[in-house]
Amino acid sequence: MVSTLLVVIDGLRATDVRKMPYLTELAHRGVSYRQARSVAPSLTRPAAASLAGGAPPGVTGIPGNRLWADGHLIDTGRPDHLELLRSLRGDRLLPVPTLGEHLAGHGRKLVAVGTGSNGCTLLLNPGAVDGHGAAIGARPFGDDAFYARPESVRRRLAGSLPHAADGPFPALRWTTDLIVDYVIPELAPDVLVLWSGELDDVQHDNGVDGPAGDDALSEIDHRLRQLIDRVRERAPHTDVIVTADHGFSNATHTVDVADIESLIPPSLTDAVQLVDNNGGLLVYARRRLRTTQIDAILDAIMSAGWSGPVFAEGDVPGVLPSAGLWSARTAADGLLAYVSLTYHDRLGDPRIGHSVRDGARLAGGHGSTSAADMRIPLVLNGPSFRTAHESPFPADHLDIPPTICRLMGLPVPPSMSGRVLSEAGLLGPGYASAPPEDRRVVAERGTADVTTAHFQHFADRQYFLSADRHRS
Ligand SMILES: [Zn+2]
Repeated sequence: MVSTLLVVIDGLRATDVRKMPYLTELAHRGVSYRQARSVAPSLTRPAAASLAGGAPPGVTGIPGNRLWADGHLIDTGRPDHLELLRSLRGDRLLPVPTLGEHLAGHGRKLVAVGTGSNGCTLLLNPGAVDGHGAAIGARPFGDDAFYARPESVRRRLAGSLPHAADGPFPALRWTTDLIVDYVIPELAPDVLVLWSGELDDVQHDNGVDGPAGDDALSEIDHRLRQLIDRVRERAPHTDVIVTADHGFSNATHTVDVADIESLIPPSLTDAVQLVDNNGGLLVYARRRLRTTQIDAILDAIMSAGWSGPVFAEGDVPGVLPSAGLWSARTAADGLLAYVSLTYHDRLGDPRIGHSVRDGARLAGGHGSTSAADMRIPLVLNGPSFRTAHESPFPADHLDIPPTICRLMGLPVPPSMSGRVLSEAGLLGPGYASAPPEDRRVVAERGTADVTTAHFQHFADRQYFLSADRHRS
């Protein structure tokens, strides 16, 4: 019997919940967080890995949608690339136990179903390849019209379930039917995760606050109602958590990767691997570099007009400390820096940003440290949660797996660095009564170039809210 349903709507901005009448109603009858945040970088697969592991990207080792590992450019949207990454990392995709594995260890089951990339769906439950629950993606893979692990689930689906083809978002219809007709009755998950990738696709192509995005919001809201109604018909006491992986901005400029490469000092060009990630850029070292060489690379990147807040280790003026991105894992991969592309909000909401991309131009994007990209909705609705409550406290992706553990009556694994969102409901006592404390970290590159990172400290956690760079 499903007891918790987690729905992730890819790219849903917190400010767009008001355009979704059903989700608004869920929020009003449950708990909604005003200060919920994505992980940084505010990208899809880092968020998926952190929702699985309850740990930041520096710990999960998934700092980008695309990343560099042992000489390989890994597209984490592709299950075959993730298999390669797994083999490079000693047969474990994520170094920490995931929620799906933790539940399996206690005789419970997590099933993840997704219409985003199949790699994203797998990252929500990497243990599915070893038979811990399942991961089912609605995009073609190999000879199948879908992706499924473990093999027993793939075989079962291969014979029985064709793709529905009618109407908008057919993959979302397919997954909803699959959940109701197959996943719940046959796989009997305790925790069900649905990832909807449709809105993200529409907003990348069309930007936000336009008719295409608004149509997608209405359609997804309608499907969300259908899904939750149908799940609760079968399991009336299901707790529902609805969130997003990241926010979104309109993009007015695209920076070509070749132009970024041309900034690097010629003697170091072959030493640097730039990995574009939409509104963010990951900078890797292809070989061991001296501190002075790293400084020269960072200095060249920071001097570019499109360069916003830069996170790196070391003492380069203007650079911010790691914000949870660095670890032995990322150091082993040679990650030198995460560069958030610059943005401004002089035109009001939505914010206008840059987007880095090798090739295609996109109307909208995310991946920067802007509040527009970092802020996400978080709605909790069901018998375990308070009603008609708006929480002023910070929360992020790391808090969701521990909260689900508590909902299931299970201990929280020590590797999960989030907190149980006790204040959201009937989860027992123990949330901090001290209010969140705002903290700023300032990095100056001369008096006319100041980067400020905004954090909140609350209940023994540090939440990264956003970072801004101002040059005058
Ligand atoms: Zn996304």
